[in-house]
Amino acid sequence: MCNCVSIKMGGYNNQTTLRMPDGQLMGIDKCIADEIQYLWSIGIRTTGCCCGHNITEGYIGVIDKDIEIMKKGGYKIGFNKIDLRDEKNFIPRSYINEKGEINYYEYKDKYKISFS
Ligand SMILES: [Zn+2]
Repeated sequence: MCNCVSIKMGGYNNQTTLRMPDGQLMGIDKCIADEIQYLWSIGIRTTGCCCGHNITEGYIGVIDKDIEIMKKGGYKIGFNKIDLRDEKNFIPRSYINEKGEINYYEYKDKYKISFS
């Protein structure tokens, strides 16, 4: 689980500001900021994300065109209870703990996407 304590869903208390590839500044949950930055660095276009704040599973939303790349890279689709056909949200692979160390969920290959 991530290092969020008493952060409400939709809360912005544990965020950091990152510059997106298009130059825009964006508040990103600190727990998954490293992973988001990596995804941007390889060209993934995200639509939104949340670490889950230790309340629920986090998600990383991507644009339709990048869904296949995420799947190929081994990302698991986040289940959408409202729309079962929705595959736009993926489960984050990492979180940063209270010591600032990066930790990984069950993925052995961490979050490096393979394009082969
Ligand atoms: Zn968190």
